[in-house]
Amino acid sequence: MTTQETIDLFDKYVIANYGRLPRVIVRGEGCYLYDADGNKILDMFPGWAVSAIGHCHPKVVEALRRQAGKLLHIDNTFYSEPQGELAKLLSERAFGGKCFFCNSGAEANEAALKLARLHTSQEKYKFITAEGSFHGRTFATVTATAQPKYHEGFLPLLPGFVYVPFNDTEALESAFSDEVAAVLVEPIQGEGGINIAGDKYLQAIRRLCDENGAVMILDEVQTGIGRTGKWFGYQHFDVVPDIITMAKALGGGVAIGAMMAKDQIAASLVPGKHASTFGGNCLACAAGVAVIEAIEEDNLLENAAELGQYTKGKLLELKQKHSVIDSVRGIGLMIGVQLTGPGADIVAQCLANGLRINCTSDTVLRFMPPMIAAKSHIDQAIEILDTVLNEDEG
Ligand SMILES: *Cc1c(COP(=O)(O)O)cnc(C)c1O
Repeated sequence: MTTQETIDLFDKYVIANYGRLPRVIVRGEGCYLYDADGNKILDMFPGWAVSAIGHCHPKVVEALRRQAGKLLHIDNTFYSEPQGELAKLLSERAFGGKCFFCNSGAEANEAALKLARLHTSQEKYKFITAEGSFHGRTFATVTATAQPKYHEGFLPLLPGFVYVPFNDTEALESAFSDEVAAVLVEPIQGEGGINIAGDKYLQAIRRLCDENGAVMILDEVQTGIGRTGKWFGYQHFDVVPDIITMAKALGGGVAIGAMMAKDQIAASLVPGKHASTFGGNCLACAAGVAVIEAIEEDNLLENAAELGQYTKGKLLELKQKHSVIDSVRGIGLMIGVQLTGPGADIVAQCLANGLRINCTSDTVLRFMPPMIAAKSHIDQAIEILDTVLNEDEG
C-alpha cells in the first residue's frame, strides 16, 4: 500500500479524532521508525511514552512469541501465571502493594478513584486534582484532568472534583476537608508541560491525606516504569503514596494498565465492585514481565538517569545559542524544553529532518528518548534540532 492509499482508508473508515502527521509508520526497531516511503526517523518520543525501551525490544518480542504459543487470554474466572508474576515484580519495585490490571492509563485512574471511594466513608466524595494535570479521557478521568480545553463540550462533568494550582501547598490546605476521598496528582506533570512536583508539596499531600483520612493517589502513567531513572517517579521524593497507577511503558508496546494499592486499601476492592474483561491478559502481562526483566538485565534505569543528565546538558548548550529556548527541565529521560513561543512548527520541521519529538502545552518541546538510547542518538537529535532552530532564526 502506498502512503496515500493508507491515508485514503483512514479518510473513509477511521474517525478523524486525531490530528495525524501524513506519514505511515510500518516498522520500528530500537530508537528508529521506518515509514512506508522508506524514510528512517530517529524517535525521541517513542509511542507517546509507550515504547520506553525502544520499538520491538527483542526480549519483549520473544516473550510475546512464547506466550502466544501457550495461551493468549484467559478470563479472571481463573488464575494465570503471567498476571501473578507481573504483580510480584511491580510490587517489589514499588511499596509492596497489590495490583489490579486493566488496559490503559485512564482505566487505571478510574480504578484508583473508585477504590478511594470504596475505601473511605460514603460522606467522602470529593477528589482534589491539580491544574495542568492529565489523567485520561473517560468521564471521571477527564473530569479529574484540570484543564478546561479537555472539558469543552462535555459539561456538566462528574460532581465532586476540586481543582487546585499545582505545587501550591496553601491552596491545597484550603481545599481540604473531611469530605475529600482522595488527592490525585502526577509526580511530574507530563501533558501539562513537564512540571516537577516539589518534595514539600508531595509531603503536604501525604500529611493532609493522613490527617483527613483521604487516599493519596499518584498518577505514574507517564513517569512510571523507569522513565525517570527510578522505577517510579515518587521514588525521587521523600514520600510514599497509597495508590499508584501506571500504563504506557508497562507493556513495551502492548496495551496494559495497572493500579497498585497498599494492602489495607486494596482489601476494599472485593468481588463485584470493579473488573476488566481484558485486565491481566496473559499476553499483556507476559510483555510486562519482559519489560521489567529487560530494564534490569540491561541496566536501563542507570542509563535513563545518566543519559537524562547528558541530554539536559546538551539542551542547555542549545539554549546558549538559541534565544527561543527559555529553560530546560525534567528528571531522567522525561525532559521539557520551555520555548518563548509555540513549538508545533519546530516539531514538524524536526520530523521533516528525520527526528521525532513532541510539543505539549503549546510551548514545551518534549523529549522522551527511549531508555536504550546511547549518547550518539542524543547527539544526532541535538544536531537536527540545532539545524532546525538555525533555519528558524535565519
Ligand atoms: C497518557 C496518560 C494518561 C492516560 O492514559 P491512556 O492510556 O491514554 O488512557 C493518564 N495519565 C497520565 C499522566 C498520562 O500521561
